[in-house]
Amino acid sequence: MKKINQLYEGKAKKVFTTEDKDVLIVSYKDSATAFNGEKKGIIAGKGEINNRMSNYLFQVLEKKGVPTHYVKELSGRETAVKRVEIVPLEVIVRNIAAGSFSKRLGIAEGTVLAEPTIEFSYKNDALGDPFINDSYAKALGLATEQEIETIKKYAFKVNEVLKSMFLNANLKLIDFKIEFGRFHGDIILADEISPDTCRLWDVNTNEKLDKDRFRRDLGNVEEAYQEVFRRIFGKK
Ligand code: UDP
Repeated sequence: MKKINQLYEGKAKKVFTTEDKDVLIVSYKDSATAFNGEKKGIIAGKGEINNRMSNYLFQVLEKKGVPTHYVKELSGRETAVKRVEIVPLEVIVRNIAAGSFSKRLGIAEGTVLAEPTIEFSYKNDALGDPFINDSYAKALGLATEQEIETIKKYAFKVNEVLKSMFLNANLKLIDFKIEFGRFHGDIILADEISPDTCRLWDVNTNEKLDKDRFRRDLGNVEEAYQEVFRRIFGKK
């Protein structure tokens, strides 16, 4: 599998076409952004950690019945994935209040929710990914009713699988963002699952081991990514 043309360069990844029209190669970068691109930086070694961690989690999820875009890990930073049409929704599942949820609703970070909850944002950088609901998603033609039902079902399943996996690694899964795509008419999990897209707190100390260390200038950013990686792969 070889890269042919660069299709796209995003904030954290480059995407290339291959000789197979159904397969792309993603190449993970060390660059990090936050607050809709306002804050920029480099997290050394992040690309490789996110690539390997995401690939491992996607393979676990496949075994548990969640179809994903994962095809094959090609190197530390590069992976072959199915070429999907991304559903322009950021799907966020939360177990414990944090971040924008805490701010919007005035609920202290760390408050355990009575049950996992889901929300959608419209993927649109120019608008700052505004919060929307199912009805907006359908009215705007972003996804059909059936697709939204499938997305919700998979999102909660991903939460259950990841929650118990991370707990085995002594990490609390606070919340996470996932994206889905359409592949030959089916909804499958795409993009990535990594400390860039999940909030992970140490079970005993509640130490933040995720991108909030970068967003909030908490220090030891690289070390946090390495620690998550070690814990996951140490338990494999
Ligand atoms: N998240 C993400 N990309 C985004 C926005 C959020 O990966 O563009 C993740 C974030 O890392 C966290 C979860 O989604 O795990 C919920 O984020 P929240 O809505 O609280 O937003 P934030 O406080 O990060 O702005």
